[in-house]
Amino acid sequence: MTSVTGGKRPRESCNDAAFGDAVVAVHDWGTVIAWPDGTCVHGAPEDTDGYRQTAYDHGYGDDTLALCQEHELMHVALCHWLGMPSPVMEALRNAPDEMPGAELRALEEAAVLSVQKFARALGVDLIEAMARYARVAL
Ligand SMILES: [Zn+2]
Repeated sequence: MTSVTGGKRPRESCNDAAFGDAVVAVHDWGTVIAWPDGTCVHGAPEDTDGYRQTAYDHGYGDDTLALCQEHELMHVALCHWLGMPSPVMEALRNAPDEMPGAELRALEEAAVLSVQKFARALGVDLIEAMARYARVAL
């Protein structure tokens, strides 16, 4: 649901919070998630009515950037908590054109958005909350 691209990127360009072997960098335009093998997934808000509606429906108002930043982070953080890599991120970083496992990815998307909506209702900033639990990679 977020504009994402996979590919390789120099590891040293990503230096933010880490969940397992995934390093999440939150930028003022979106996110970059990187892995030790050099694969990387970029996320940025989509300039679409559907994306704006998703932001509104999940408590972000018109802040699609916050929706995107927390969404990409939560994919990694939630799955790390469950003890497994994110199926969505695994598909994006390894087979962005094939995207296997559509049903599992749909469940992950729904779970991530539900956590986001719950956090927004509680007034919790997911980036700040996750930063307290993630180690900082330097
Ligand atoms: Zn997603």
